[in-house]
Amino acid sequence: MAGAGLSCAVIARALAERGHQVEIFERRSHVAGNCHTERDADSGVMVHVYGPHIFHTDDEEVWNYVNRFMQFKPYVNRVKATTGGRVYSLPINLHTINQFFGKTLRPTEARAFIESQADLSITDPASFEEQALRFVGKDLYEAFFKTYTLKQWGISPNELPASILKRLPLRFNYNDNYFAHRFQGMPADGYTVMIERILEHPAIQVRLATEFEPAQVGEFDHVFYSGPLDGFYGYDIGRLPYRTLDFERFDVEGDYQGCAVMNYCDDSVPWTRITEHKHFAEWEQHDKSVCYREFSRACGPDDTPYYPVHLVQGDSLLDRYRARAAAQPGVTFVGRLGTYRYMDMDVSIRAAMDTLGEWLAKDAGR
Ligand code: UDP
Repeated sequence: MAGAGLSCAVIARALAERGHQVEIFERRSHVAGNCHTERDADSGVMVHVYGPHIFHTDDEEVWNYVNRFMQFKPYVNRVKATTGGRVYSLPINLHTINQFFGKTLRPTEARAFIESQADLSITDPASFEEQALRFVGKDLYEAFFKTYTLKQWGISPNELPASILKRLPLRFNYNDNYFAHRFQGMPADGYTVMIERILEHPAIQVRLATEFEPAQVGEFDHVFYSGPLDGFYGYDIGRLPYRTLDFERFDVEGDYQGCAVMNYCDDSVPWTRITEHKHFAEWEQHDKSVCYREFSRACGPDDTPYYPVHLVQGDSLLDRYRARAAAQPGVTFVGRLGTYRYMDMDVSIRAAMDTLGEWLAKDAGR
């Protein structure tokens, strides 16, 4: 197993429970990949070391799975956004619409009003920009999405796929829950403890600070690889583009911004958002506060890859790597980096369960 993030942890556990011996190589000195959390020694705040992770899902099996290993505390992500010198609530909902346009519309009126703003000539939106112009119109697009997206992706929204914007709901009521899923929460003791518990099994051995080398594949019956897809091949036909994040940490006394996530949607500041980590755990009490200013930029060879960058026109380099991966003997590529997908945590767990199920079915047929 290469990598001790969510995907490999789920697969390792399932294999161990079926009687297999599992060895995990993890290059970092901790498990949990980018959802790693750590309690800050000074303030006591649970810090999301690689940026905010909020667990939300509609998949009951996945929800039951994580709850088997960790108690989840109630948490609802209510994101705020600063744009044009004012603060609004996200995702775009009736409050956002009424505040932004200085109106007092009811749901059906707001729907009709937004339709009047929308560019109805766009029938089948392919790009992020078309999706925005079709569903929220130019004014809301420019205030909330255009510049934030440029800061986040470094690419014009007309080259990015519509799927990125489809992550966010548009609501004609006052529901300001950022996610539209039935289940949402935060692990009481953080994601790292949860993943340590998933990996706590006598048949699982975790080697931290140990890189897995593709040349080692032959030493194992099978390898599940959650490192970067192009990295497995030594980037021999080129590098897949990623965005990396820089976090500028600052500590304050008391409450800095009154919420966990504040997005900055215009270009008066270079960061995309500020996260104040103690607000991810409102059931805890802390006098001090730890905040992260988040900056996005192109990922270089020595940076941590975060977001795979997909373009509307597709990417032949990715197609070539994927074709090689599909034909790679003895290796199954999993997770965000291994499959080069922009996946939420619940989707990663579901994909890991399904991938293992397919592999076991094939294995049984061999
Ligand atoms: N987005 C935006 N303005 C916002 C929030 C999001 O333009 O205030 C766009 C941006 O392109 C972002 C995408 O919507 O990458 C998805 O947002 P989400 O909050 O799901 O991003 P994540 O938390 O995964 O970085």
